[in-house]
Amino acid sequence: MTDCIFCKIIAGTIPSTKLYEDDDVLAFMDIGPLVHGHALVIPKAHYNLLMDTPDDVLAKVIAVVRRIARAQQAGLGADGVNIHQANGSTAGQVVGHLHVHVVPRFADDGHHWNWTPRPYADASEAAALAERIRAALLP
Ligand code: 5GP
Ligand code: ZN
Repeated sequence: MTDCIFCKIIAGTIPSTKLYEDDDVLAFMDIGPLVHGHALVIPKAHYNLLMDTPDDVLAKVIAVVRRIARAQQAGLGADGVNIHQANGSTAGQVVGHLHVHVVPRFADDGHHWNWTPRPYADASEAAALAERIRAALLP
């Protein structure tokens, strides 16, 4: 994809601080870190959404995500690691090339997720939504 910023990073026409690279996957430092040490892991093949990406590609990406997370623990002393992945602009996706955020966490990092639960009115509301999801499940 010629107009994709992450394809340009893969091609080397835009510089990046690389962490790991193989034939299928690239890991590099996020230019706008939520917490210092924040990394991105991407497939070298261009897919936009998680929902579009083949299982074998995802398997390679998630294996590198785990390696980076372990390296953030071992190399940076991270106390924890958050994995974040957005699909679609409504979900906050800005770059249309599948990417997984790997965010090292430290007790004093000052980052807080805006995670505000919105309880269901009653159990039947959750059950009805669950039924719609189950009915739409593909193999
Ligand atoms: P999204 O919001 O799409 O999930 O995240 C896109 C991420 O890509 C952001 O965290 C942003 O900082 C990062 N990013 C955008 N442009 C560049 C770039 O040119 N280089 C690097 N290293 N990261 C980028
Ligand atoms: Zn791309």
